[in-house]
Amino acid sequence: MRVVIIGPPGAGKSTQAERLARERNLPRISTGDVLREAIKTSTPLGLKAKPTVEQGQLVDDATMIAIVRDRLRQPDTVRGFVLDGFPRTRAQAEALDAIVAERDNGPLIVVNIVVPHDELARRLTTRRICSRCGADADPFDGDAARCKRCGGELIQRIDDNAETVRKRLKVYEQETRPLLDYYSPRPTFHVVNGAYPPERVAEEVAATLDSAAARARFRQSHQC
Ligand code: AMP
Repeated sequence: MRVVIIGPPGAGKSTQAERLARERNLPRISTGDVLREAIKTSTPLGLKAKPTVEQGQLVDDATMIAIVRDRLRQPDTVRGFVLDGFPRTRAQAEALDAIVAERDNGPLIVVNIVVPHDELARRLTTRRICSRCGADADPFDGDAARCKRCGGELIQRIDDNAETVRKRLKVYEQETRPLLDYYSPRPTFHVVNGAYPPERVAEEVAATLDSAAARARFRQSHQC
């Protein structure tokens, strides 16, 4: 199963992608995590991407496409993958189609998580992540000082301050929302309401994917 989770910043893509990947035993590939790790360890990629990420802008397409192309050529992605944070531009989406076409093992299933704009800004500016493992803290556990998983200190992401959040939401509208026109005509495009608590959204994502898989099997067996 090859799944792409798209949606605006704060929609809950990482939470859902992580859960889905765990439940279906697939690798989760988060381009945001790749960049944050590179920034944390000051690799050449991290040094190059840091100002862009801090300003809430998008890292250039060529860099991001190369990262994802390399990752999707790893053997653990043969059974499938869950992509989180990529694609974010039309050029990235077209490149992803070309990469996926190299291996003919099923369609790309696109799940778009939708959440009202005001709620996105609220979630992002109050969100905290673990400084050690990078996991999002449970938003319903507001007083926790430490990560539930590894005990690391909880901090605000470098790009979750109010000004950068405004910029990221604007960049989403300009650069990433147009992807909906690219993907929505496909029968493998699905919309999930992300305004509910994560467990309920996860149930909807799972149900959506299961019925998509059942429909694909039906189409295949009837060759239509
Ligand atoms: P995320 O964790 O997905 O919200 O990503 C955090 C930041 O990393 C974004 O605001 C961008 O600066 C950068 N980034 C992550 N994925 C991409 C991508 N596919 N294209 C360009 N920039 C990206």
